[in-house]
This record gives sequence, structure tokens and C-alpha cells, in this order.
Amino acid sequence: MTERYQNYVDGEWIDAQTNETFETTDPAAPAEVVAEYQQSDEADAEAAVEAAAAAQDEWAETPAPQRGAILREAGSILADRKDELTDLLTREEGKTHAEAGGEVQRAVDIFYYYAEKTRDLGGTVKSASGPRTNLYTVDEPVGVAGLITPWNYPIAIPAWKLAPALATGNAVVLKPAKVAPGVAVALFEALDEAGLPDGVANVVTGPGSTVGNTLVTHEDVDAVSFTGSGEVGHMVYDQATDDGKRVQTELGGKNPTVVTDSADVEEAAEIVANGAFGVTGQACTACSRAIVHTDVYDEFVERVVDQAESIEIGPGDEYDMGPQVTESELEGTLDYIEVAEREGATLETGGGQPDGDRFGDGYYVEPTVFSGVDNDFRIAQEEVFGPVLAVIEVEDFEAGLAAANDVQYGLSASVVTDDHTEAERFVREVEAGVAKVNAKTTGLELHVPFGGFKRSSSETWREQGDAGIDFYTIEKTVYDG
Ligand code: NAD
Repeated sequence: MTERYQNYVDGEWIDAQTNETFETTDPAAPAEVVAEYQQSDEADAEAAVEAAAAAQDEWAETPAPQRGAILREAGSILADRKDELTDLLTREEGKTHAEAGGEVQRAVDIFYYYAEKTRDLGGTVKSASGPRTNLYTVDEPVGVAGLITPWNYPIAIPAWKLAPALATGNAVVLKPAKVAPGVAVALFEALDEAGLPDGVANVVTGPGSTVGNTLVTHEDVDAVSFTGSGEVGHMVYDQATDDGKRVQTELGGKNPTVVTDSADVEEAAEIVANGAFGVTGQACTACSRAIVHTDVYDEFVERVVDQAESIEIGPGDEYDMGPQVTESELEGTLDYIEVAEREGATLETGGGQPDGDRFGDGYYVEPTVFSGVDNDFRIAQEEVFGPVLAVIEVEDFEAGLAAANDVQYGLSASVVTDDHTEAERFVREVEAGVAKVNAKTTGLELHVPFGGFKRSSSETWREQGDAGIDFYTIEKTVYDG
């Protein structure tokens, strides 16, 4: 049976004023409808912003540990629903069960983490030059926050915006991507059940151009947190900053792993393959360029091809890699594969859709490795967002570092090396918000900041850890006495 979801506005589950809905389908079996959602428009988003604005002051005045208690309770409700949400995430977005389960658990952990943080919110006492002056800072909520999220981590990303925003006393409206919104809506079911006051958190499903745009432009929205493509994100940034809103945009990546001549090549191939093909390459931090020292290049290519060919593709929980999320994402990847071949890269493995009964009409694509790639090929410069790896040969470490930086993005980057000096230099000089040594580019800890350099992010604000708290608070300095 198809599940039917509603918007959650001012504490009520309601249909969109448009009376229209849209459906999601299973990327592993596209003929199967998973769920039906509200096709909202500007009026629905406005109503949600008004509800949030009306709830803002009381929520800001609610003692932070009480806010934390609601988050903790919502986290435990989500934890109780983990199996069901894992299944929904797999059916709507295509991640394997293992990947989906990890993501649902991450959302739970984020709720618990920011629940605990509410005990330490406030400000700091400073020494003052006057004898009887109390000098201190207080952190206040920014106000109503508009949250706009992509489909590729459909529960973790909404959670890492929602939880710090609510913990710090902001009312919010979330617009999840139309692809795979079910698990994001479930966050609001949990908050509702946990006793969140009406209007404090609202979710409205529908198109970015109407619902999303209203969150970016509405005068009652004080902060916008956007994660998605650069194409949309740069526009959102310009619009929201022009209106004087606080805004963060977390965008794409073209993440490199540099493999030096001292690397353990087997380990390097494993690190690169995990980073490139995990979650079907649909991660903003996915490794899409392996930049390899000439002395270990041939061996690396051979081993990374072995890794790619050992990946079992298929649906659900028995396989290592699921399908791409939509037909258009699949076509985008297949187009890039063609472009790479035209540009003169050598196709080492993959390059098309797999054959076999279990694949049906699913949006599957083989893990694909190109060697002989120049760093100025489009396959090395543009975000593919599929399981495609470009291997680039370089003369030495210096050239590897230069190639790593020679892209417009700067989200995550890693180096595989046995040389401590090279590792230190890489960490210092690589232009990326996340720098890793002997580790894959994907995988984040929730208690440390996350964000990018250059076109990957608005560099002023980070997410996660204390950075999440910073974005949703504004500091006031008090001289008392
Ligand atoms: P997208 O930009 O198409 O959509 C993101 C969200 O923006 C969706 O909810 C969409 O409906 C909304 N939107 C679209 N037009 C809008 C408008 N005019 N105004 C306001 N909102 C609008 O991105 P996507 O395809 O959902 O996600 C994939 C992209 O997200 C990739 O580029 C990936 O790298 C990026 N991403 C970045 C991070 C990060 O933290 N840096 C994390 C995950 C994904």
C-alpha cells in the first residue's frame, strides 16, 4: 500500500492548499510507487513561515534543557523506528540497507548530541575593567530558519540542520528534496510525538522553485541553511544575502585522493574504491579523482579495477551497491562516461548498465574506472555524482598536490602516504574543508565542523559540531554595572 504523507504546519498534519500531490518511486524498481506527498506551493510555504514566526518568541524563551529533552525524546522515537525508516530510505533513495541503516542511526545520534549540547548553551563571563561591572556574552537564537535539503542524505542532512536550530531556540521550516522526502517527514512525526510546541518545526514538501524560493525570500525568515547543487546554491546565497539574511550553502565537490610513491598500493586502492563507489558515488564528499604517483600508477590502476569489479550491485540488503536515485541522475552519469571516452580517457572497467534479471528497470550503473585522465578533462573538473573514478598520473607529490587543488571545488581531500612530511604538507596546503590522511574522502564525524573551500561552500559558516550552534545563534555582549 502506498503511504500518504502530509505537510506538518503549526502542529497539524495537513494537505497542501493546492490539493495536488506527487509520488516517489523505487529506484531499484521504478514502476513501484513508494509514497505520495503534498505538492505544495508558495501559499503553503508562507503559512508555515507564519506559524514559525508566531512560535519563535516562546520557543526562544523555553529553557534550553527543556528544548533538549524534546530532542532526546524525538531521538529515541526515531531509534525505535530505525528498521522501518531504514527500509523506507532504501526504497525511496536506493542506498543499501547497511548504508541506509547507518544514515538513520546518524540522525538519531545527531538528535542526542544536540540534546546534550543544550546544557552548555548560554554565553561566557569576561573580566571587566570597571570594579562592579558584570561583563558577559549571551547567545540568542537568530530567529526563523528556512532549511532546504537534497535527496542524497535524506535523513542525516535534515537532522544536522534541524537539531542545532531547535536546540538553540529557533523555529524552523524544512523543505526536503522531492526525491526521497519520507524519512525527513518522519523527523517531524518524532518531534510531534515528543511534544514539540505547535509551529516550532514545520515541513512542507514541493518544488524548490516555489516552496524553496519562498523560504529564501520571505521577510520573516532570518536564516537560510541550504545543501544542494552549486547551480541552485549560488542563486540562493545571492538572494538570501541581498535580503540581509544569515545564509549558509553547502554544495558540491570534486574530491581527490592523492596516492604517493610511498603508499601501500593495496590499501590506497581500497581507500579510493570505498570513497568512490560507496553510496553509489552519490555523496558530496565522494572520491572522484585518484591522483597517483607515476611509480605506483600501473599497480594502482590494476588494483582499483579489481576493487571495482568485486563490488556486487543489486537491491536491498544482499548487495554492496544500490542503483542511482533517478533516471536523470543515471543519464547524467552515462553522459559523463561518454564525454570521458570522447576526451580520450581509457575505460578500464564498467562504463554502462549491468545485465541480469535482478536489475530489471532499476537505475543501476557499473562502478566505472577511467585511467589516462588529464586534470583538465571535464570528467576531472565537474561533479558527476555517480560511481565514476578518474585516475590521473602525476610525476611527483608536488604535481599531485597542485592537481588536487586545481579545481573550482574544495570539499574533502585525502592523501595516502607513508611519509609524515608529505602528509603534513598535504594537510596544510590542500584547499579543502576536510583533509584526511590514509583515509577515504567520505565519512564524517558529527561533532566536528563540516564545510568546504572555494565553490563547495559559503566559507563563513560551517555545519555540525559547535559550528552548528554558531550558525543558529547570535552573540550579544552585556555590560551590567
Ligand atoms: P539541488 O540543488 O537540485 O536541490 C537541493 C534542494 O534545493 C532541493 O530541496 C530542491 O528542491 C531545492 N531547490 C531547487 N531550486 C530551488 C530554488 N530556486 N530555491 C530554493 N530551493 C531550491 O540538489 P540535489 O540534486 O537535491 O542534491 C545533490 C547536490 O547536493 C550535489 O551537488 C551534492 O554535491 C550536493 N550536496 C552537498 C553536500 C554538502 O554538505 N556540501 C551534502 C550533500 C549533497
